[in-house]
Amino acid sequence: MLIGVPKEIKNHEYRIGLTPAAVREYVANGHDVIVENNGGAAIGFTNEDYQAAGASIVETPEEIFERADMIVKVKEPQPNECKMLREGQILYTFLHLAPDPTQTKLLAESGCTAIAYETVTDNRNGLPLLAPMSEVAGRMSIQAGAHYLEKAHGGSGTLLGGVPGVAPGKVLIIGGGVVGTNAAKMALGLGADVTILDRSLPRLREIDDIFNGQVTTIYSTVDAIDKYSREADLVVGAVLIPGAAAPKLLTREHIKNMKPGSVLVDVAIDQGGCFETSYATTHQDPVYVIDDVVHYCVANMPGGVARTSTIALNNATLPYGIALANKGNQAMLENEHLLRGLNMHGGKITYKAVHDDLGEEL
Ligand code: NAD
Repeated sequence: MLIGVPKEIKNHEYRIGLTPAAVREYVANGHDVIVENNGGAAIGFTNEDYQAAGASIVETPEEIFERADMIVKVKEPQPNECKMLREGQILYTFLHLAPDPTQTKLLAESGCTAIAYETVTDNRNGLPLLAPMSEVAGRMSIQAGAHYLEKAHGGSGTLLGGVPGVAPGKVLIIGGGVVGTNAAKMALGLGADVTILDRSLPRLREIDDIFNGQVTTIYSTVDAIDKYSREADLVVGAVLIPGAAAPKLLTREHIKNMKPGSVLVDVAIDQGGCFETSYATTHQDPVYVIDDVVHYCVANMPGGVARTSTIALNNATLPYGIALANKGNQAMLENEHLLRGLNMHGGKITYKAVHDDLGEEL
């Protein structure tokens, strides 16, 4: 198969669909790869790196979309990219179709076969192609929080790790899944005092085991949120109710009762956010202040560390991508988890949640 990797064109998106190492894997499986000129240059993957891995460099996205049998990307295709897709061509990328009728319509018109990273599943009911981005965002949440706790950045002037003779800062993590666990790892590493709230007792047991009791685990109730948010220096919002908007667990009232200069990092902002006062921000303008509390609500946190995120994403997408390249659509018939990634085929929506939301509009 001929695999095409265009440069990402969304504003400030520096990730790329394939790393040079991933290209080498496709080539080793007998495929040809074309990569757009300087597609990975912003994160240190040069044209020469791609050529050394066996890819050819092409000048324009038009040439990639025209020639390739399968397009591998990171972000959802923009309207001009959708218009270049054609019937039978495989598109393998993040799509997030449900809230995006324009893209859904354009993909249907193209007739392409679109596989969404975010709906591919695994044996443990997880979302393996989404998980690496949650790992990245969870780890970044503490880095961002520590930064904004500094006085010059609007915070209370608290060092999360404290020093000998001074108590460490208190980190409250609401939601102990992939984001929450990774946030806890970083916060513990800095020497902070960490509490995780979750409404799943089995999950709290696992967390207690993973961290050998170094993290305080508390069953998530309104009362617990009220108590622990008052004491916290940094609160990380990391809940997920699959397929639903995030519940507003930290209310305006709670936020009014927090210490001045404390920091909120709402990682769940891509699902609408789990703090009442959250709205989405960008890497260019990441924070705002309400009731003396600094809010960091960047909707695409992994884009801030595009090099790490690209490598992490490739580790997860590679085996499914190779299967698609080796077997074409047959790969989905042989693997139910990959089949769940299929969102669009031959002009029809093939993923129930997207069809329920947008089926009428097509
Ligand atoms: P996950 O499913 O692994 O974990 C979610 C956890 O929330 C679960 O343990 C669940 O029991 C818990 N939970 C649900 N309701 C709760 C409640 N009322 N109180 C306490 N805990 C509750 O999900 P994840 O991969 O950790 O993702 C968390 C959120 O982060 C999602 O909204 C995801 O989309 C988002 N995310 C955002 C970015 C970003 O750049 N902003 C990046 C990656 C992930």
